[in-house]
Amino acid sequence: MGKCPNCGKLSVKIHRPFCSKHCANIDLARWFDGSYRIPTDEAPMVYESNPNTTNENKN
Ligand SMILES: [Zn+2]
Repeated sequence: MGKCPNCGKLSVKIHRPFCSKHCANIDLARWFDGSYRIPTDEAPMVYESNPNTTNENKN
């Protein structure tokens, strides 16, 4: 039997791999949060420093 990735308790069949619906929701929220934040956080920084200089050179 596996363990809950969120709190380490034994996982429950209906909430596998989590121990409860609570932990499943927490992990899901964390996953969505991370996948949303990482691309939106990094994209503006790369975009602002790169195209800015290349655009000014071309125009
Ligand atoms: Zn748990």
